[in-house]
Amino acid sequence: MIPFNTCPVCNGEVVAKQTEKLLRGGVNFAAVIVSAEICLRCGEHLYSPETLRRFEQVRRKLSAQDVEGFEPLGRSFRIPNEGG
Ligand SMILES: [Zn+2]
Repeated sequence: MIPFNTCPVCNGEVVAKQTEKLLRGGVNFAAVIVSAEICLRCGEHLYSPETLRRFEQVRRKLSAQDVEGFEPLGRSFRIPNEGG
């Protein structure tokens, strides 16, 4: 259940979509596929309280290196600032 009919930021129309959210916990990242309401006008992503709780859970697991059941997805990199 998503509690929004219109965007709380700009009052625009929102549509339900599957979206990929990148979460970070400590040095680990995870891409989580969730449903969100996305504003057609400003692009704001709106998540249900259940989804936000799930994000928190995943972040905690990432911080604790507790990634059992998570599917490995490529590698992560950090690009240093080259002073440009
Ligand atoms: Zn909006």
